[in-house]
Amino acid sequence: MKEDLRSMDLKALSGYMAALGQPRFRAEQILGWIAKGAREIDEMRNLPKQLRERLQETAYLEELRVLTVQRAADGTRKYLLGLPDGNAIECVFMKYKYGNSACVSSQAGCRMGCAFCASTLRGLARSLTAGEMLEQILCMERDTGEPVSHVVVMGSGEPFDNYENLCRFLTLLHEPKGRNMSLRNITVSTCGLIPRMEQFREDFPQVNLAVSLHAPNQKLRREIMPVAKSYGFDVLLDACRAHARETGRRVTFEYALIAGFNDQPEHARELAQKLSGMLCHVNLIPLNRVRESRLSGTTREEALAFQKILEERGIPATIRRELGAEIDAACGQLRLGAQ
Ligand code: SAH
Repeated sequence: MKEDLRSMDLKALSGYMAALGQPRFRAEQILGWIAKGAREIDEMRNLPKQLRERLQETAYLEELRVLTVQRAADGTRKYLLGLPDGNAIECVFMKYKYGNSACVSSQAGCRMGCAFCASTLRGLARSLTAGEMLEQILCMERDTGEPVSHVVVMGSGEPFDNYENLCRFLTLLHEPKGRNMSLRNITVSTCGLIPRMEQFREDFPQVNLAVSLHAPNQKLRREIMPVAKSYGFDVLLDACRAHARETGRRVTFEYALIAGFNDQPEHARELAQKLSGMLCHVNLIPLNRVRESRLSGTTREEALAFQKILEERGIPATIRRELGAEIDAACGQLRLGAQ
């Protein structure tokens, strides 16, 4: 079977080149081409023709196909991309003052089962390879003609349920001869798989960690997030405290405000109390309505009131800026719509 060059980090490529009797700098040259978005082995002009021919027999560059693009006036673009096996995934390009950010998917579908999320409705189709995660960024750069400087792994899927490929992807982004992206420009979001969070703290302490909390206590959390049955609320917060302490970096908590469920003043007060003293930040996201679910989002006024209660108690909180509000398909909705 041919191997996807985009999924290979420097170590893998060096081994591959050594097996072909090639010097190590060839691996660096290939990484450079991939980082720049090369789509064919033949584009890699500084490789000897013979080597390119040899590579074509055993390797390839996997392409994702742009199936649909939705463009918003603020520059946000949301993509549905087709994988070679017929699956589809979503990713989003966003413009910020500090640069362009790509929100990428780590899996096609998801098996975490959160009640408010469209990605999980049909379960997990499969995990993505490192090359497929990288190719999402390259697709968006080709389409927009603009460079991506920041990456958030917050699309469909649970990145820590695809740990090895995630780590390879992060290594590829950071590779000096490749994209040379600072790990500090990358954020990974998890629903709270604690053992992997702990491993991640060791493997990538500079990468920003976001944790989907969505509730101020175990009772509410387990109603909407099945993962809470395996990893309880208090243990999760302990792991987050340890993360902030050990890495010196603040943990971001995502909190989807669901009308009448977790968005009342008493919920804000309880959340503030649970998070007190932790190096953290709360990102409030008025729930994006998913057709298949009865849950709905909080009003702007209630979101502001919630934020105020947190801030008065010393917990920094922001309400997520609604980029691309007019293309507001929530996580996984484009993909569902296409099936
Ligand atoms: N599995 C990872 C990352 C993917 S989802 C995680 O759970 O963190 C990225 C974020 O969007 C998560 O916080 C997720 O809970 C949230 N999300 C999913 N569906 C949503 C919806 N309908 N409205 C608002 N946020 C949603």
